[in-house]
Amino acid sequence: MQSLNSLSPEELKSKRVLFRVDYNVPMQDGVIQDDTRIVKSLSSLRFMMESGARVIVMTHLGRPKGEVVDELRVDALAKHLSQYLGIEVKKLNESVGESVEAEVNTMQDSQVLMLENLRFNPGEKKNSDEFIDALAKLGDLYVSDAFGACHRAHASTYGIAKVLPAHAGFLLAREVRVLKGLMDSPKAPFGLVVGGAKIDTKIGILEQFLEKADHFFIGGAMANTFLAAQGFDMAESLVQNDKLELAKDFISRVEALGKTLHLPTDLVVADEISPDAHAEVKSIDELTGANKALDIGPASTESYVKHIQECETVIWNGPMGLYELPQFENGSKALATTLSQSSCTSVIGGGDSIDAINKFELDHDSFSHISTGGGAMLEFLEGKNLPGIEVFQ
Ligand code: ADP
Ligand code: MG
Repeated sequence: MQSLNSLSPEELKSKRVLFRVDYNVPMQDGVIQDDTRIVKSLSSLRFMMESGARVIVMTHLGRPKGEVVDELRVDALAKHLSQYLGIEVKKLNESVGESVEAEVNTMQDSQVLMLENLRFNPGEKKNSDEFIDALAKLGDLYVSDAFGACHRAHASTYGIAKVLPAHAGFLLAREVRVLKGLMDSPKAPFGLVVGGAKIDTKIGILEQFLEKADHFFIGGAMANTFLAAQGFDMAESLVQNDKLELAKDFISRVEALGKTLHLPTDLVVADEISPDAHAEVKSIDELTGANKALDIGPASTESYVKHIQECETVIWNGPMGLYELPQFENGSKALATTLSQSSCTSVIGGGDSIDAINKFELDHDSFSHISTGGGAMLEFLEGKNLPGIEVFQ
């Protein structure tokens, strides 16, 4: 892998480096909830700064769908980064164009700039030549630590690496090295824990692990979708209705292969999502459409914990419930604690999953690997070629 390690400080000095990171961190009301991804990119950044490079940081945040969305501007990220680096990271209001070029051309050695949210430009996700060229004008070199976005062939993760000399940053190189090592011969029983809200990408990944994993533990909105597929009334819960057939199909294939699918038998429900929400435990047979299912229940948690303790390898992506509120954190907390105390190989990924672990004050070192990728981590572990990694081979 062509990595930053192979560049000497002389080769970086005075160079304009386009540095793609994945600072798509959990935010609430403009406040960063978890900065793990920022912290983990600092070693590449400091190395480039100390070498006298002029670093242009670029990231996406959220899903603005190719338009400017004021709440998704990246000012808070630049400010946060400034605090870590001890210098002002100037944040620009656009990602490409003449005014950006003018700013970049006046940069000093070791200075750091941050471009506006790349996904405000429709060319980013489309990997359009026009956007790639506009970005390429800004840099002499391209470096990426954006492991979390590597499964996307976007302009800033893929296209740009074809037109500029490209190197993987320290974080990206480490993710690849560690995850590859872990997956070369995973020890059985192998458990895959999947939860969270982003079902559309995760359900496909579940299927990809059908052959590899022995146990599938389902929580979060993914569990709601599986329960809806089995005919339970989940009307008020977060469900991906266009994935019901996929869920059904998955259930029958898991059974046919003699593997174990763990779905909740009870849930923590409420009428509303608010800090004052009154939480209640219901067995799945007692559910009514009026209930919002927001966590796996205590009986399910106990059963998941017991089976996870028997696993030798566990991969976890996506919280079991709406862990941001204490009423709905118990499932995620119990599973995370179990993993932190287990001697199994444990790999955790996903912005919110890491946020949950930090919230529960569990030491990162008590897990085998905390990955900065969620979907990207899962795709990598499946053995897929990720466009944002392939470009460095
Ligand atoms: P990750 O970032 O770890 O990959 P996701 O982004 O897919 O995870 O999902 C995390 C979000 O899912 C959290 O904000 C959490 O509150 C939410 N969530 C989990 N379970 C539920 C549920 N049952 N209903 C609504 N939201 C949920
Ligand atoms: Mg998330």
